[in-house]
Amino acid sequence: MNNNDIDKQRLIDNWQQVNAQVGIACEQANKQSESVILLAVSKTKPAEMIAVLAEQGQRHFGENYLQEAIEKISTLKDSAKGTDIVWHYIGSIQRNKTRDIAEHFDWVQTVERDIIAKRLNDQRPDALPPLNVLIQVNIDNEDSKSGCLPAELPELINIVKGYERLQLRGLMIIPAKADTNAFARTKQLFEEIKAKHPELDNWDTLSMGMSGDMTEAIANGSTMVRVGTAIFGARA
Ligand SMILES: *Cc1c(COP(=O)(O)O)cnc(C)c1O
Repeated sequence: MNNNDIDKQRLIDNWQQVNAQVGIACEQANKQSESVILLAVSKTKPAEMIAVLAEQGQRHFGENYLQEAIEKISTLKDSAKGTDIVWHYIGSIQRNKTRDIAEHFDWVQTVERDIIAKRLNDQRPDALPPLNVLIQVNIDNEDSKSGCLPAELPELINIVKGYERLQLRGLMIIPAKADTNAFARTKQLFEEIKAKHPELDNWDTLSMGMSGDMTEAIANGSTMVRVGTAIFGARA
């Protein structure tokens, strides 16, 4: 796909609309709009679209597919705004992919077990700052879902917080559609961990809410919404 195939104005309009929606949700929740980060989920979408939004001031981008992500990251690395982009890995993590993730990303939102955390810690290059990490929680105990079970969370936190090349920032969830209070339960978990671990001084991120439910997520304490379709349009 080249530049001519992108409806640039439409993309910018969508992005502005999503920003406005986040702003309204924050206002309704009595929060500063800066307290919620908009993560633009750009999986399957071309680097040109990312460049257009980066130009507008969008900083955080989320990717799920490693090979595709690395290509886009290197394409944008040297562009004027590309250097400001903060890259989040939000896909599932295979053991043999941790080195690429540790070398190319600023955040990983999908850590769910110790072996993965340990490898990311060992493989994070010294020249880079610690890798920001969220633990993905399988809040509905679904068999098919990624994430650690809520019951496994205390132990995993105790391990991950000790890894010096990782910075444990919070939790991430993808709730089941039918679960109407997953956001509230996760917020409660997030606050319990915060109270129990005052030493976690960068425990500040609760990643929940996507295109279809960002307003509810923000009402329930989300600090980061991950939005793909509402910004970039439907995926093939
Ligand atoms: C694709 C994806 C999103 C974005 O979903 P939309 O419904 O397109 O906004 C958010 N989070 C994760 C983990 C995803 O894989």
